[in-house]
Amino acid sequence: MINPTERKRSESLFERANKHIPGGVNSPVRAFKSVGGTPIFFKKAEGAYLFDEDENRYIDFINSWGPMILGHGFPEVVSAIQKQAETAMSFGAPTELEIELAETICEMTGIDMVRMVNSGTEACMSAIRLARGYTGRNKVIKFEGCYHGHADSFLIKAGSGVSTLGLPNSPGVTSGTAQDTLTAPFNNLAAVEKLIEENPGEIAAIITEPVAGNMGCIPPLEGYMEGLRALCDEHGIVFIMDEVMTGFRLAPGGAQERLGVKADLVCYGKVIGGGMPVGAFGGKREIFDHIAPNGPVYQAGTLSGNPLAVVSGLTTLNYLKDHPETYAQIDHMTERIETGMRELLDKHGFEYRINRLGSMISIHFCDTDVVDFNSAMEGNNDKFKQFFHGMLNEGVYLPPSAFETWFISMTIGESELEHTLYAADRVLQEMKK
Ligand code: PMP
Repeated sequence: MINPTERKRSESLFERANKHIPGGVNSPVRAFKSVGGTPIFFKKAEGAYLFDEDENRYIDFINSWGPMILGHGFPEVVSAIQKQAETAMSFGAPTELEIELAETICEMTGIDMVRMVNSGTEACMSAIRLARGYTGRNKVIKFEGCYHGHADSFLIKAGSGVSTLGLPNSPGVTSGTAQDTLTAPFNNLAAVEKLIEENPGEIAAIITEPVAGNMGCIPPLEGYMEGLRALCDEHGIVFIMDEVMTGFRLAPGGAQERLGVKADLVCYGKVIGGGMPVGAFGGKREIFDHIAPNGPVYQAGTLSGNPLAVVSGLTTLNYLKDHPETYAQIDHMTERIETGMRELLDKHGFEYRINRLGSMISIHFCDTDVVDFNSAMEGNNDKFKQFFHGMLNEGVYLPPSAFETWFISMTIGESELEHTLYAADRVLQEMKK
């Protein structure tokens, strides 16, 4: 069952979806625009596997773009959600569960305060509003190819789907908003220094993915994060790490712990909800004193701290907290994928770069190091497309864009690794023809 041959039902569902859902999807990267072909419609997921509407089975290397770090249908998470659904779905009022989640997040990450929201977009949008309110400044520096969700301020030279579709500066964002977002190449401290010099006393925040994951995976070069931290300290700028991807994935304390650099504000999403629609932003108490209801910076949410989302996230985080060995396990498995892929790409004579940090990994078909958005753009998309579709036909579901990171769950075991490398060998052999 592992080699999918038929996707007739996905095809007819996509046709039907297009009638009432723009592009047939509720989030653009799902549409397979850059790799071509019909998106696959899924109906079930279990452990490391996805099952599509045509009964094909795939090893999942997306894991809902990161949240399913424990694998699909993790029993403790499922039963916690079931139990909570029978108790109460939503109050719009405080619960003890929210306190438990906040305590767990603060304990694992070392931050002082945290507020729950419903997505990574909301987390980043709220964090920069808070930074602006706190500093009384307007401008924000972000990095080319980094993605911080789809709020207006971030759709300037953004990564992920907007790069995949070639729309890094989105229509609909006013020129006023665009002017307040300054951009620099990732991994380039000199460019950031220049922006700060050119805009004295005007920069409220620097926001960055600590390990970029939305132009493929790009780890920070030695000293880069430390350099950003120092610049923020020197100029009274709020340092925001967008840990939506890296949070609770690279270590219990995320990239802050893994890289040994602390931010002033941190954004979370994905793993923090264990598969439910959740985000959070947190950080220093002194900054959070400025947010409503204690301070004047407004931020709110009807479903924020929703009990179903909170138990899903809390159960996931508690598992990770109680089983810290999970991190070594998924890192080791991803390292073996890297080693195996390097051997195969060498064997078949491809030019490539593999970037990896912990359980975040991506392959670029190019012959220059991928350290920023421009170098990520050097990747050969035709080769990526062939590789993606070849792997899909072998029952391996990779992110449908070279600008995305693969996400590994702890359910990837020996047989999944073996099948993935066996499939890659066949696909690369075929691509040479
Ligand atoms: N920040 C980063 C680093 C992300 O990767 C994403 C989503 N991929 C977001 C923010 C936005 O999160 P969401 O899609 O939940 O709004």
